[in-house]
This record gives sequence, C-alpha cells and structure tokens, in this order.
Amino acid sequence: MRVSAKRSKACYRCEAPGETREHFPPKAFFPKGANLQLKTVRSCKEHNNSKSEDDMYVLTHICLNTSRHGNLAQSTFLRAVVGQLEKAPKFGEMIARGSRWLEDGEREYPIDVRRFDSFFDALTCAIYLDKFDARFDSDRHTMRHVYLNFRSEDDASMAMARLAESSMSWFATNHADHIEHYEADRVDEVVYENDVIAPAGTKASITIGHRFYGSFRVISLLTQTLPPSLRSYGD
Ligand SMILES: [Zn+2]
Repeated sequence: MRVSAKRSKACYRCEAPGETREHFPPKAFFPKGANLQLKTVRSCKEHNNSKSEDDMYVLTHICLNTSRHGNLAQSTFLRAVVGQLEKAPKFGEMIARGSRWLEDGEREYPIDVRRFDSFFDALTCAIYLDKFDARFDSDRHTMRHVYLNFRSEDDASMAMARLAESSMSWFATNHADHIEHYEADRVDEVVYENDVIAPAGTKASITIGHRFYGSFRVISLLTQTLPPSLRSYGD
C-alpha cells in the first residue's frame, strides 16, 4: 500500500520525524493579526531551525526591492524587519554591506544568492509535497531558481531569466488551462501567489512562478533528469 506523503509523519525534506509545522510562505511575510489560513507541512527540527535565518534575510531583501509608499511590502518591512534590524545590528550591517546609491535614486544591495536558493528550495519542496503528495526527489528533477527582480553581471543568468519569463508568459497566453493558480491570503493586497505548470504531473519538467507583494517574481524550474540508462550518453 502506498503511504501518502502528506499523511506520513515524516519531514517534508528528509526521512526524520516531522515534529514541527512549517508555514509556507513563512508567517512573518504576512500582516500581523490577519486571519491566516496558510498551508503547512511537517518539518524535522533541523530543517525548521536552519530555515528561519534565511526567511528573515529573504523577507528583508524582498521588502527593500518592492517597498513603495503605503504598500504592504512597506508595512511588512516596518512591522517585521525594522525590529529585527534594531535587535540585531549585525544583521543590518550585513544587509547594508556593499550597498550603493544608483543614479536613478534607488539603492542597490548585493544579494547572497545561495541564501535565496536555500529559501526557494524549501518553499518549492513544500509546494511540491502539497501538490503531488510526494517528497521532492532530486533523482527525478533538478531544481533551480531564476530571480526576475535582480540585476546580474552574469550574462548567462540574465539570459536564463529572460527565457524563463518569456516561456511563462507564452504558457499563460497559449495554455492557461495548464496553469494552476494559488493565492495564499488577501488582505488589501495579495502577499503571495504562485502559478504551477505541470501538464504531466511529476513525470515531466515543472515550472513554478512565485510572486510576492504583487511584484517580486521568482521562477523555479524543476527540470526532469535523464533516466539512469541515458545519463552517460554524451560523456
Ligand atoms: Zn528534515
């Protein structure tokens, strides 16, 4: 008998017991007191603890990137991030290190992409489990994330971002019926939403478009790996 991964008591990332509950996206991203009906997955202590510092790092940068006068990203910044910056000055120094003013009056912050990747790995694994009732299997798919709001000096990553963005909008225009849309919560503005494109379920490649505060966009590409019999081909 196949045991449903959701009903199993294991962690969403590993075989360890899922002793805690992980909200996805994290609660800190949402206004306080909002009647949250966030989804949760079971998590082992290790995966839960290792995640919380990345959560604050990512939230801070998303807010810095999308905060405009009076919008939800700004109020989230004031509520959830400013206190943290005051409590932990080193965290603020780390965020500001290497930042500079640009000619258009915007401030540019360097990003540690590994911390973003680790956040989006976790979020994508949670979405995967919730949607397919199976733990993400790195033998079946490789995972990478494309950050549409970031400027990179690396031409290859900019090209990848443009390609991922245009294939998402091609899908939206031509195969809207294959896109499953989800919105986490609505206060006045949508905090988090995603579009999942998985026409063949887990049997082929999967694309997930994430959007925070209406404007911070990330595309997660789960590319189907070659079956073992074909992997040495071309070596
Ligand atoms: Zn775990």
